[in-house]
Amino acid sequence: MRLLLFGPPGVGKGTQADLLATKYNLVKFSMGDILREEMSLHSPLGNELEDYVKNGNLVPDGVILELVKDFLLENRDANILFDGFPRNLNQALSLEQNLAQLDMSLDIAIEMHLGEDEIVKRLQNRRQCTDCGRIYNYLTNPPQKIDFCDNCGKKLIKRIDDDGAVIMRRLRVYEEETRPLSDYYRSLSIYKQIDVSGSQEEVFKVISSTINGYINKK
Ligand code: AMP
Repeated sequence: MRLLLFGPPGVGKGTQADLLATKYNLVKFSMGDILREEMSLHSPLGNELEDYVKNGNLVPDGVILELVKDFLLENRDANILFDGFPRNLNQALSLEQNLAQLDMSLDIAIEMHLGEDEIVKRLQNRRQCTDCGRIYNYLTNPPQKIDFCDNCGKKLIKRIDDDGAVIMRRLRVYEEETRPLSDYYRSLSIYKQIDVSGSQEEVFKVISSTINGYINKK
């Protein structure tokens, strides 16, 4: 099974991706995590990426598609969950092509939907662990000790792109570049839209029942 999660920033893709990967034994491919890891190395590529990410822009397709190709070659025949990739039509078409070349295909594309005011509120209150990457939200999912990770005790930080103008820029980029994927995946009959205004547990239940529906039909 190959499935992908897309949606505007702040809808909880990363959190749901972790839960789903564990439940369904999927290899998670998170483009944002890969890019953040490269940036933390301060390599020439990492520094170049930072300019795009901190301004809320998409990293050029050339860089992204190379990273995906490497991943697919290493995970041939695996059950995969794509989180935050593809982010535009060109990436989606390229993913289809790369999968087809390896005799693989995409089974479900889930769009996580949430109103803009709620997204802004969630992003301003989001924190991430500097060590294990676990994500918290001070409104909906706070850590037990403020600013420190429940999992590994390390410091929590606000992501460089979770701030004011950058949040608005990311939302515009989503509308212009990523939203059109819904029509594309609808045309392939693999599209599902899920409302994510409920709690983490509620959203997880709804996504799981979509996946179970697909598994039972097979
Ligand atoms: P995310 O953690 O998925 O919100 O991604 C954080 C940032 O990484 C995005 O705002 C983009 O700047 C960059 N990024 C992540 N995935 C992609 C992608 N598929 N294509 C281009 N840029 C990406």
